[in-house]
Amino acid sequence: MPTYTVNAINVGSFNLGESDKLLTLFTAERGLIKAVAKGARKPGSKIAGRAEVLNINRLLVSTGRSLDIITQAEGIENFSRLRHDLLRLSYSLYYAELTQIFGQGLSEESLSYFDFLAESLQKQAEADDDSTWLCLKFELALMQFLGYFPELTYCIICRQILTDMNLSVFDKELGGIACQQCHQTHTHSLVKERSNLNADEEYIQLTAAIQITPKVWKNLVLASQGLEAPDLGVQAIRQSVTAAQRLLEKYIEHRASRKVKSLEMLAAIGFTG
Ligand SMILES: [Zn+2]
Repeated sequence: MPTYTVNAINVGSFNLGESDKLLTLFTAERGLIKAVAKGARKPGSKIAGRAEVLNINRLLVSTGRSLDIITQAEGIENFSRLRHDLLRLSYSLYYAELTQIFGQGLSEESLSYFDFLAESLQKQAEADDDSTWLCLKFELALMQFLGYFPELTYCIICRQILTDMNLSVFDKELGGIACQQCHQTHTHSLVKERSNLNADEEYIQLTAAIQITPKVWKNLVLASQGLEAPDLGVQAIRQSVTAAQRLLEKYIEHRASRKVKSLEMLAAIGFTG
């Protein structure tokens, strides 16, 4: 049987048969793939530890008729520190789920996304950086990879430059922030009957709008530039960082056209949702 070698991050796992797992892997060489880890649910088997979600391994995979099968696994990284911190683990599982959802669209940049994901998990595993701020940076960078980066500089409708004084809502459908004037005009136009509009008047709906405050906007801008978090010891700033991260979650779920399951766990921990 033909074989191939990949560096792979486990991003999902599904029980198969009595003792196997079907792993979803993001690989540096081939992007998102699936492969069977035989005996991965047998306690004490060598592959069991390697098959845990978030582990990075170098794998020898043989091409099967229906499913590819892992024949050798050499551990590269298991992020053992992550396993002792429920919040950081939950954020990391969120990264993994987003990779499952959007991974097909990243196959052309598989090597750079692989490095980015490995580095992002490494950062969550290191205890020093704030986990919510790290997640915010991850989400924005992922959107950049996918070509969904939100417009944070200019009003998404009239293109005037956004400031503390004029910003109004973030629209998930349009993928950016609208100014107050456009928000009023376009929300109002929804109430008017369509027949009242001129045929050549552009009909823009602001139907997926989320209120955004200047503080939340600033966090998004800082995080998108890869900058350090503002002083998270200040309660109001911490809240605005959490609000920025929640706003991005909503935007991402909108782009994914589905619920992201790992967010339920984050919500249950009480830090988000
Ligand atoms: Zn505008």
